[in-house]
Amino acid sequence: MKIVDLTVRQFNYKSQMVRDSEGHAHPGPEHDATGSLLTVHTDEGAEGYCFGAGGHDVIQHVVRPALVGEDPFYRELLWQRLRERQRLHLGTLSDRLVGTVDMALWDLAGRVHNQPVYKLLGAFRDKVPAYASTMCGDDLPNGLDTPEAYAEFALACKRRGYPAFKLHTWQPPIAGAPSAKRDVAACRAVREAVGEDMVLMLDPFHYYSREEALYLGKELEKLNYYWMEEPMDEHSISSYVWLTEQLALSMVGPETAEGKMYTRAEWIVRGASDISRGGVGDVGGITPLMKTAHLCESHGVRMEVHGGGAGNLHVLCAMGFPGEYYERGLLHPFVDYERPEPWLNACVDPMDDQGYVHVSQLPGLGWDINWEYIEGNAKG
Ligand SMILES: [Mg+2]
Repeated sequence: MKIVDLTVRQFNYKSQMVRDSEGHAHPGPEHDATGSLLTVHTDEGAEGYCFGAGGHDVIQHVVRPALVGEDPFYRELLWQRLRERQRLHLGTLSDRLVGTVDMALWDLAGRVHNQPVYKLLGAFRDKVPAYASTMCGDDLPNGLDTPEAYAEFALACKRRGYPAFKLHTWQPPIAGAPSAKRDVAACRAVREAVGEDMVLMLDPFHYYSREEALYLGKELEKLNYYWMEEPMDEHSISSYVWLTEQLALSMVGPETAEGKMYTRAEWIVRGASDISRGGVGDVGGITPLMKTAHLCESHGVRMEVHGGGAGNLHVLCAMGFPGEYYERGLLHPFVDYERPEPWLNACVDPMDDQGYVHVSQLPGLGWDINWEYIEGNAKG
């Protein structure tokens, strides 16, 4: 089997999410938006898909020539080839895009072999406990605008069945943010509302000073929080070594630091966190995320998977040294997360009443694609 083409289909949809001036998503007025679907085509008619491909130019001029004519099952070769291409195309060939291509190749393999991807990877389980992961704080009345609002939302998530809850607190441009004291107030309100038996985590503003991050960590220890993520710029590994040494609270990272599994290795060697971190969008797909999982396993360091979606869920179901939770969200009181995106017939991460997300048993990555919607709303 040979790859004969890569195409990107764009389609229109109505979005109720808006981005603030710093790029954080919040609920807002409905507006037109564009979705995209990458397709890998083969000479035998088999296809693989992945949503969310940006960068048409780089796909046409850099990715396509690297893949066309090759065997689509040579995923390692193709991933290494794209990784090398990134050096001269750093501004356009992102890890996220490399990950999209890698996931489309895994999806194709699953469809051809009639197996879900997590079984091709070597299955370990078929369901994962989820944590409710909130959007960033906002100033929307009854949204996520006060510590009390977080507390109320955490209670609603507990009633829905989530065993764990993670706050993303306020960041600029929201008035008054950042404020470590206000973050602690929200964390305290949530703990008091849900009681001691719910697992809680915090992901705050990412550019606090060492002293502010240490203050946050010490306060979270008093509130029996499970972990904290990325309170400082992750490029300063020394700052994370300094912080991790002083906290009993588990530090999780790196998440946004570039460098795929290489960066995770450096953090492990330096002792810059207690639990490592990575997602398909951070490290460049399923292929390097499995390497990262095995790297962590080999060092006896746990790895929590960053972000939701089909690719991350299949990796979680194939990790023998398992990530503990699936990150479900981002959630907000105004958003109905249980409703599938209009281009899908079903959610990729359905959660039962016990808080377990079940991986799809469909071949490939398990998207139940609404082709009628995609064709009917084709852009241009
Ligand atoms: Mg995070």
